[in-house]
Amino acid sequence: MKLLNYDIVIAGAGPAGIAAALGAARAKNANGNVPQRKIAIIERYGVVGGGLTSSYVRPFLGTVENENVGCEIEQLITENCKYMSPVESAKVVLTQLLHEAGVDLYLQTQVNAVEKDGGDVKSILADFRGEKLKFTADAFLDCTGDGDLSVLSGAEFEMGREGDRLVQPVSIMFTIDGIENDYGLLCEHEEHYTVLPNGKEYLDLCHKACASGELPPSVNIVRLYATAIPGERMVNATQMNHVNPLDPLSLSNAEYELRMQVQQIVAFLQNNVPGFEHVRVNGSCTTTGVRESRRICGDYTMTAEDLFAGKRFDDAVVEDAMFVIDIHNPDGAGQAETDGCPHKPEPYEIPYRAFLPKGLDNLIVAGRCISGDHRAHASYRVMRICMAMGHAAGAAAAQMTDEKINSRAVDIRRVQKEVCIEK
Ligand SMILES: Cc1cc2nc3c(=O)[nH]c(=O)nc-3n(C[C@H](O)[C@H](O)[C@H](O)COP(=O)(O)OP(=O)(O)OC[C@H]3O[C@@H](n4cnc5c(N)ncnc54)[C@H](O)[C@@H]3O)c2cc1C
Repeated sequence: MKLLNYDIVIAGAGPAGIAAALGAARAKNANGNVPQRKIAIIERYGVVGGGLTSSYVRPFLGTVENENVGCEIEQLITENCKYMSPVESAKVVLTQLLHEAGVDLYLQTQVNAVEKDGGDVKSILADFRGEKLKFTADAFLDCTGDGDLSVLSGAEFEMGREGDRLVQPVSIMFTIDGIENDYGLLCEHEEHYTVLPNGKEYLDLCHKACASGELPPSVNIVRLYATAIPGERMVNATQMNHVNPLDPLSLSNAEYELRMQVQQIVAFLQNNVPGFEHVRVNGSCTTTGVRESRRICGDYTMTAEDLFAGKRFDDAVVEDAMFVIDIHNPDGAGQAETDGCPHKPEPYEIPYRAFLPKGLDNLIVAGRCISGDHRAHASYRVMRICMAMGHAAGAAAAQMTDEKINSRAVDIRRVQKEVCIEK
């Protein structure tokens, strides 16, 4: 076994994990200096970016009032798009940012065990092609999206909606190109009506195709988003319900079903939409996109009611987050809990306590697996909000290692200062 000693170790290099690494590397100490901290980030895939790259997700959604590294990450990715597509740009920019921050990146390395002493995580064990790696640190961050590190450390979690415990469906995102005489057809939501050049209405066409079997019924509508490239669209339409993201066979069967759906959707577009006769898939995710899995139980649990009330918290580390309660129906086609469009909360804050798994003293969670209910998660799971969480979690971890304190002893005002929140 190889022993690797760090100040801070982060599991998961998705939007939250990358922001956490940069937040931890750049945070000022109590004297206003930025000491050199030894930081490692561990990622099971061969590429950084999580949902942004591996699941081919875009655009960045949600808004956050406080300035954080997410703004810089997004801007750099956009600027680099003059050389390549957004997904390719993200791979370059995120790797470069970690490199420049002096963060050690362990790709193709899966976290799979933890050694503990009471509420303290002493080390995490990871696997690189059969070789065991043991990481020690003062502070550990769980940015795995699925809460793997917290659960391996003994944290409790919840999954799914109240009652039947179903989670949101999984999907394969893809892009198509080859639209001829592009007349700007877009379809961003269930109420986005467009009359096509042949006089037919696009959403009506989608619904009829689902009813006739030309499209799978779970698709409901074929969402088409603009990209920076003329004649290209991002397609967010495949959907498989009743998948358990913690069951390997369930997830792998979904991969098969969704790849078949991609073909059906492209055939539908070719056969029904003027100008789309020759469209082809030019890119897709490398792994099935999981919207929702574990939600770690923390000192505070965010609820949808908090979001609708725009609740304020003294220990807020994300300020005025905003995104609709976007629940892709766990039990069938379309959206759940909508009146045509998803419900819109008030701008809301996220408290630091929602990052602290109950019973664990030196582990912080950030990203889509923080402590919240099914409906609140449907809003804060988007990438801009996850990056804002990551930055704050990284700043807290920096204090933990600088001052050898546990996660609940962190001076929250200093974390707020790092992420530009004034309280
Ligand atoms: C189909 C789909 C469409 C979406 N559309 C949008 C959209 O349009 N806009 C938007 O903003 N958001 C969208 N989202 C949501 C968004 O992509 C995610 O919620 C967001 O990426 C979560 O960020 P994260 O860093 O918390 O987790 P993730 O992005 O899931 O990153 C977690 C990382 O941890 C790694 N990891 C997991 N377990 C381990 C382990 N044991 N060891 C090592 N590494 C591990 C993973 O490989 C991954 O790289 C969509 C999601 C899906 C699935």
